[in-house]
Amino acid sequence: MRDSPKALLLRTNFRAFLLLDSLQRLAVVGSAAMSSVPFLNTPDALRQLANQPHSPCQCSLQHCAGWESINDTAWPAAHMQHVATLRDPDVYEPTFEEQHPNGTRYESADAPVALKFFPYNRCDVHACSQCQQHVLRYTEFGGYYVDHRARRLDATQISD
Ligand SMILES: [Zn+2]
Repeated sequence: MRDSPKALLLRTNFRAFLLLDSLQRLAVVGSAAMSSVPFLNTPDALRQLANQPHSPCQCSLQHCAGWESINDTAWPAAHMQHVATLRDPDVYEPTFEEQHPNGTRYESADAPVALKFFPYNRCDVHACSQCQQHVLRYTEFGGYYVDHRARRLDATQISD
């Protein structure tokens, strides 16, 4: 599989990548009103998606019970449909605070899905067209890397 232009750019010129990223963000902000996917701002709205019938997942996302790194090669892009976002278009920088009332950690498979807290507040929701499973995904931007992270959506873990 060929690298995306963005990945090549990241390796060759990180400053250019930063510029590209900020331009893309501006583009997103500028077209927010015309965004094709709905912004889900309530736990119930997300539960409705998560409760849609699905078959046991056979795709490469089945191991993402908790947050896992999943690079562009492992992400089954051909099967994934972008269906919604949890990112509030009116919030420029969502909080990095996490919510773990029961002693879970970021990577716990039973960590609550708390919409207003990190990292859920910057996630997009994708659906697998083969098993109808819904998956949350966001991207971490480190000093010299980008890290795509995904977690399967489980309705029972969505907190109010
Ligand atoms: Zn699947």
